[in-house]
Amino acid sequence: MNRREALKIGALSVAAAATMGTITGCNEGAKPASAPAAGKKLCKHKVVVIGGGFGGLTVAKELKKRDSTFDVLVIEKNDTFMSCPFSNTYLGKLEGVNLGTFVHDYAQPVEANGYGMLHAEVTSIDRAAKQIHTTKGVVEYEILVMSPGIGYDYKGQFPNWDDEKIKHVQRVAPGALIPGKEHIILERQLVDMDDGNVVITVPSDGKYRCPPAPFERASMIAAYMKKEGIEGKVIILNATNKVSKGAAFKESWKDLYGDRVEHIDFAKIQDVDPVSKTVTYHIADEMEDKGYKVKTLKYSVLNLIPNNISNPVIEMSGVETTTDSFKRVVMNGCSFQTKTDKDIYAVGDVIAHTVPPSGQTANWTGKQCALEIANRLHKKAFELPVKKSTIKVGNVCYSMVSDNPEEAIMVTHDFSFSEEKNIIVSAGNVPKSPSGKYRSSGTAKATRDWYGGIMRDLFS
Ligand SMILES: Cc1cc2nc3c(=O)[nH]c(=O)nc-3n(C[C@H](O)[C@H](O)[C@H](O)COP(=O)(O)OP(=O)(O)OC[C@H]3O[C@@H](n4cnc5c(N)ncnc54)[C@H](O)[C@@H]3O)c2cc1C
Repeated sequence: MNRREALKIGALSVAAAATMGTITGCNEGAKPASAPAAGKKLCKHKVVVIGGGFGGLTVAKELKKRDSTFDVLVIEKNDTFMSCPFSNTYLGKLEGVNLGTFVHDYAQPVEANGYGMLHAEVTSIDRAAKQIHTTKGVVEYEILVMSPGIGYDYKGQFPNWDDEKIKHVQRVAPGALIPGKEHIILERQLVDMDDGNVVITVPSDGKYRCPPAPFERASMIAAYMKKEGIEGKVIILNATNKVSKGAAFKESWKDLYGDRVEHIDFAKIQDVDPVSKTVTYHIADEMEDKGYKVKTLKYSVLNLIPNNISNPVIEMSGVETTTDSFKRVVMNGCSFQTKTDKDIYAVGDVIAHTVPPSGQTANWTGKQCALEIANRLHKKAFELPVKKSTIKVGNVCYSMVSDNPEEAIMVTHDFSFSEEKNIIVSAGNVPKSPSGKYRSSGTAKATRDWYGGIMRDLFS
C-alpha cells in the first residue's frame, strides 16, 4: 500500500468516527431528531446562545465562569464540533495532523462548564414572544446571543444557476469554509489527485470568513503536491487584487513553490461545468466593449468558495443588518448588543464591527459579550474596556505556508472604538521574522501552540 492509499483509508475511518458524536440534551430533555416535537415547548432559559462554534462556546463558558448560577443553554445543530482553523494543514498532510485533530465532543465543555446544550436546528425566531423554534421544539429566552457563523450566497453570485446546479457544484467543488463534510470531500479529492491542475477560487469583493484562509489553503496544497511529487499547479482565480497577508504569502510562494502557485488578479468566474470539469472566467478590467476574452481552465480539483453571507439565523431574528451583500448585524455602538433589540446580542463572524472575521476574534467578542451580559444580570453599569483604550493584539491569525520545515506567517490586529463610526474598528500588522523573511519556523510552532490553546479554552 502506498502513502496515498494509506491516507485514503485513514481519512475514511476517522470520517466515520466523526459522524458518531455525543448528544447532550436541553436541560429539560431533548428528544431524538425523529420525534415529532417541533412545535412543542421544551424549556425556558435566562440566556440562550445559538451556535456552538468559536463565538457561542466562548460566551457560554465565560458566563458560567463569571457566575455559576447563570442559567445558560447553547443550541447547536451538529452533534460534533469540527474546527475550520488549522484545517488547511490537514490538506497539506502535516505531521501528526489527521481529521481527529479537528473534531471534538460537545460533552466535554458541557460537563466542565455547566451550561446546557440542545442539539437541534433553529428554524425560526419569534422576537415578540421571545421564542426560538427548533427541529426539536420551542425554547424560550430572556436574553438571546447569536453566533451562527456564515452561509453561502451561490444565488447572489450565480443568479443563472438553479438549485440543482448549486447542489451539484457544492457537492463536487466544495467551498470548505463551513466545517463538516466539505473539508472531507476536498481532502479526498486532493488525495485522489494525480498529475494535473488544481484550481482554487476565492470569494468576490466583500467580507468573508478568514480572509487569509484561501491563500493558506493554496500554500498547503502546493506543499502537498511538492512532497508527493505531483506534477501540477495551484491556480488562484482571485476576484479582486486583494490578498490578505499578501506580501508574506507572495514571498513564500515565490521562494518555495515557483510556478507551482499561480495567482491571477481580477478573475471573475462566469461559470463552472462540473461534468467537463471546466471553469470559465474573464479579467474584470478588460471591459466587454473592448472585447474581453472569456478564458477556460480545466481542473482536476476545484475549491469554489462562494460569496459569504450571514447565516440564515440572522435573517430569522429580523434584526437590522448592513446593506452590503454579507448582511452583518448592526450593533448598538460600542457593544455586542444589537441595535434593534436590547435582549439580543451577536458575536463572531456576523457582527458589523469592522474586526477580522476569525476564530480568535470570535473568542474575543464572546468574552466581551459575556462581560456585558454578566454585568447586566448583576444590575451593574458597565462599559467595554475597548471604549476607553486600544486593545493590543486582540486578534492574531497564523497561516502555515510550508512543510518540512514547517513555516508560517502571521497578522495581528489591535482593536479600538471609533467615536466617528460608532463601531469597534481594527488595525492590522504583518510582521517579518528576524531573518528578514515573513515566514519562520518559530511562527509555525506558534501556530500549533495557538490552535492547542484555543481548543483548550473552548473545550475545558
Ligand atoms: C479554512 C479556514 C481556516 C481558518 N483559520 C483560522 C485561523 O487560523 N485562525 C482564526 O482565528 N480563524 C480562522 N478561521 C475562521 C474561523 O473559523 C471563524 O471565524 C470562526 O469559526 C467564527 O466563529 P463563529 O462563532 O462566528 O462561527 P462558527 O464557529 O462557524 O460557529 C457557528 C455555529 O453555529 C451553528 N449553527 C449554524 N446554524 C445553526 C442553526 N440554524 N441552528 C443551530 N446551530 C446552528 C453551526 O453548526 C456552528 O457550530 C478559519 C476559517 C476557515 C474556513
